Amino acid sequence: MAPEGARLGGVVADLEVSRAWLVDPAIGREGPGDIVVEDGVLRSVVWLDGAEAEGIDDRGVVVAPGLVDLHAHFREPGFEDAETVATGMAAAAHGGFTTVCAMANTSPAIDEASVLVRVREAAERSGSPVELLVYGAVSAGRKGETLAALGELSDGGAIGFSDDGAPVRSAAILRHALAYAGMLGRVIVDHPEEPILTDGAEANEGLVATILGLKGWPTAAEASAVGRDLAILTEVLADVPAARLHLTHLSTAASLELVRRAKAAGLPVTCDITPHHLALTDEWLAGARRWAWEALDEDGRARSPWADGALVAGPFDPTLRVNPPLRSALDAAALLAALVDGTADAIATDHAPHTRVDKEVEFGLAANGISGIETALGIVLAAVDAGRLPLSRAIEALTTGPGGVLHGWGWGGSRRLVEGEAADLVLFDRSTPWRVEAAGLASRGKNTPLLGRDLPGRVLLTVAGGRLAYEEPG
Ligand SMILES: [Zn+2]
Repeated sequence: MAPEGARLGGVVADLEVSRAWLVDPAIGREGPGDIVVEDGVLRSVVWLDGAEAEGIDDRGVVVAPGLVDLHAHFREPGFEDAETVATGMAAAAHGGFTTVCAMANTSPAIDEASVLVRVREAAERSGSPVELLVYGAVSAGRKGETLAALGELSDGGAIGFSDDGAPVRSAAILRHALAYAGMLGRVIVDHPEEPILTDGAEANEGLVATILGLKGWPTAAEASAVGRDLAILTEVLADVPAARLHLTHLSTAASLELVRRAKAAGLPVTCDITPHHLALTDEWLAGARRWAWEALDEDGRARSPWADGALVAGPFDPTLRVNPPLRSALDAAALLAALVDGTADAIATDHAPHTRVDKEVEFGLAANGISGIETALGIVLAAVDAGRLPLSRAIEALTTGPGGVLHGWGWGGSRRLVEGEAADLVLFDRSTPWRVEAAGLASRGKNTPLLGRDLPGRVLLTVAGGRLAYEEPG
């Protein structure tokens, strides 16, 4: 199965995968099949049926298009102790991702073209074939006071604009940014958060925060910002029909319901959710380690981890501190429903690597974020294994879902298994789990609450644009 003699970054000269389970969301098809890659090109895709297909199911080796991440933090320039573009790209490839959009909250922020050029050069130097797309900042220095050099950043190839790490605080700046970016044919990606409601907040407002004595972070802090953003978008569209808004890492039932209604009304809004908000809940802060769907009873009500003996680890693990915070099991269930019904366009990792110094401190002082690009597929497959999500929809939300969002922003790539195109795919094995261990993560950020846990879907091979991006060692 391993490509003959290919080195990382080199063209995959010869690869044959026989009797695997192929998933191609672009044509809505999955089933047994063979693929052949020659000189970086997908030479043949054969769908098997009848006797040839016997004994092949979706629980073994799966071939899917390369995964696409709309939201990752690669920390360069400025925070190279936490991640560099090169280590971020390696982590992406290990996670099965072949296209990644990097956020602009570096130091300096990517608020002018020269910084964007530095990031692109770092990607080039890394030798990784993973495609790196880069956001520019919405505001100068991400301070929310004046617009960044949007025109210059757009000319330099910024895929869109985001102040992520923080919301676009000023409604006036957001209004101008949506209009100006729309005229440039670019999107605004907002991290929706009303800062007045989250000042000093530490954990999702609710029973867990109360019992642990952590300051509550209300769901309304997100939903009210989503409402604000949608209202401003509606008004801007009257003057700038090309204005577009993407809401990232939505974490609450209320936010998804607002987006559901906005989409039904025809607003050009898209959104993503993260694997951790889908599968982890605030009870992990107390020491529970069960998946979100395991924290609901048969009637869909949240179970108390204190009442049913679910606490298996110590409380206050700082790796769980993230913005937005891990929510309730009911919110997570709403995210799953939004993923299944298409309200959520994509799963994005919000990969947020941090150094130990920034993370191994008192819970409330820890930096926000989870190093997640290498565990995203595994978390999503855990939902598939539990029967909560069809495999085809899971793959769609990691490939054509975000790919379709990117097409709306002018990206010309494709995510499909089509003969004659450059091979861009991931092979993973569902038959045996892999254990998340710090030493096994390519990211410099080892800040994940999943260390020591077994996840389904070991990535065997990632091919990006016809070149070898990752190959399982040994
Ligand atoms: Zn964010």
